[in-house]
Amino acid sequence: MSEKQKVIIVGAGISGLAAVYYMKKKNPEAQVTLLEASDRIGGKIKTVRRDGFIIECGPEGYMARKPTLTNLIKDIGLGDKLVRSGSGTYYIYVNHRLRKMPNGSVMGIPTKLLPMVTTGLISPLGKLRAALDLLIPRVYQDKDISLNEFFERRLGAELVTNMIEPLLSGIYNGNLSDMSLEATLPQFAAIEKKHRSLILGMKSIQPPKQAGASKKAVGRFLSLSCGLDVLVEKLASYADEIKLNTPVRRIESGKVTLEDFTELKADAIILATSPKQLGPLLDFPEAWNLSNDKRTTTATVALAFKKGEVESLDGTGYVVSRKEGLNITACSFMDHKWSYTAPEDCTLIRTYVGTADNAAIVGQSDEEIEKKALADLRKIGKIGTPLFSVITRQIDNMPQYTINHNQRVQVFEEVLAKISGIYACGAILHGVGLPDCVDNAMHVSEDASNKLKKNEEAVTNS
Ligand SMILES: Cc1cc2nc3c(=O)[nH]c(=O)nc-3n(C[C@H](O)[C@H](O)[C@H](O)COP(=O)(O)OP(=O)(O)OC[C@H]3O[C@@H](n4cnc5c(N)ncnc54)[C@H](O)[C@@H]3O)c2cc1C
Repeated sequence: MSEKQKVIIVGAGISGLAAVYYMKKKNPEAQVTLLEASDRIGGKIKTVRRDGFIIECGPEGYMARKPTLTNLIKDIGLGDKLVRSGSGTYYIYVNHRLRKMPNGSVMGIPTKLLPMVTTGLISPLGKLRAALDLLIPRVYQDKDISLNEFFERRLGAELVTNMIEPLLSGIYNGNLSDMSLEATLPQFAAIEKKHRSLILGMKSIQPPKQAGASKKAVGRFLSLSCGLDVLVEKLASYADEIKLNTPVRRIESGKVTLEDFTELKADAIILATSPKQLGPLLDFPEAWNLSNDKRTTTATVALAFKKGEVESLDGTGYVVSRKEGLNITACSFMDHKWSYTAPEDCTLIRTYVGTADNAAIVGQSDEEIEKKALADLRKIGKIGTPLFSVITRQIDNMPQYTINHNQRVQVFEEVLAKISGIYACGAILHGVGLPDCVDNAMHVSEDASNKLKKNEEAVTNS
C-alpha cells in the first residue's frame, strides 16, 4: 500500500482551518497537519465567555449574501446555530450629533430622494453636489483608482466625509485615499460601468418591494449563536494533527522549516498565515510586494454593562466621522444585533480604536484604552460604569488593499503556480471577509487536492 500523502497547512485562522476541512473532504486519505505559531487556533476569530456574555473579540458575523461560509457551516452540522443579525437604525456621529443614516442609503450612497433631501447629515450644497452624480460622465476607466477619488468625483467631498468614509473606514479600518476600488469594492466600478450614475445604478439593483411583504427589515449578517469559536473547534477537528506554538520560518517545494530549524517534508503545503508572513516565508519579490503593502492596527474594546448603566440606543450602533477627532471609530450595541451576546438584564457594547492614520492608542495599556473609549462614548450617549471590559489588539495585522492590489495578487499567484506543491490563501489575497477567506481556501484546497491525486495516479501508472 502506498504511503499517505502529507499535507501541511500553515496558519490556524479561518483560512487555514477551512483549507483543512476542504482538503479532507476532497482527499480523506491525505495526512493533514496544521501548524500554528501562537498558542491557540482561530487567528482573528476569538470568542470570550464571561458571566453569561458571549464576546466576539474579532469578527462578529459575516455577510449573509455570500453563501460559501453558510454552506460550510451547514456541512459541518452547525446549521441550527445560524442566526441573522437584528436590523435597526444605524447612525453616524457627525457635527457633534448622532444622526440617522438616511433610509435607502447603501454604504452611504443614496438611493431614495426624500430621506436624502431631509437628512441633516450634509448641507444643501453637499446634496446638490451629490446630485451631480446623475449627470457626470464615468470616473472609472478600467484603471484602478482610490475609493476616495472614485466617490469624491462622483458624489462630492461632503457626502464622502460625512457618510461614506465613516462607514467604509469602520468596515475596512483603512484610509480611503489609499484603498483600491478594484480590490475593495469592485461592485461599484461595475455599477458605474453599466449605469454611469451610481445613484441610479444602486437604485436599480435594490430588490423590489413585494406586495403584502412584512415591513420588518431583516439583518444582512449571519453568525453562530454558540459563538464563532465553535466553528473554529469543529473545523480543527478535521485535521489529523495540530501543532500549536510552532512558528514556520521558511517554505520551499516539499519542505517546511520551523523556527527551530526542524524540517518537515510534505507533498503539498498551503500557506494561510497573516499578511506580513507571506514575504519572509516564501522569500520571492512578488510575495514581499504583497507583504509590504499597508497594514493597519486596531483594537476592539468590549464593554459589559448592567442595562441601567447605559442609555439605550434605538438601533444597532453608529460610526464616527473622522473629523470629530475622537479615538473611537464606531460603536455596536452587540445585544441589539445578536441577542445571545448578553444576559437579559445586561448590555454589551463593542467599540473600536485605532485607524490607519492614528494607531498609537492601540499601544497603550488596557486601562488607558478603556478610559479613552469610555470618555468618547460619554460624549455621544449616557454611559455609566462597565462590569468589565475585554480589549483585543490587532497590531500591524490587518491587510489594506491599496491601489493595484489585484495586479499584485495576480503576479504573485502566477509565480507561485510555477513552484511545485506550494499554495497560498488568506485575507491578504482575495477579500478580508470571512466568506471571502473560506471561498479562497476552498479553491486553493481543491487545486492542491487535484494535483495530489494526479501525482498519485502518475506514481500508480508508472
Ligand atoms: C476586529 C476585527 C473585526 C472583524 N470583523 C469581521 C466581521 O464581522 N465579518 C467578517 O467577515 N470579517 C471580519 N473581520 C475580518 C476577518 O476576521 C479576517 O479577515 C479573517 O479572520 C482573516 O483570517 P485568516 O485566516 O486569513 O488570517 P488570521 O486570522 O490572521 O490567521 C492567520 C494565522 O496564521 C498564524 N501565523 C502567522 N504566522 C505564522 C507562522 N510563521 N507560522 C505559523 N503560523 C503563523 C497566526 O498566528 C494566525 O493564527 C474582522 C477582523 C478584525 C480584526
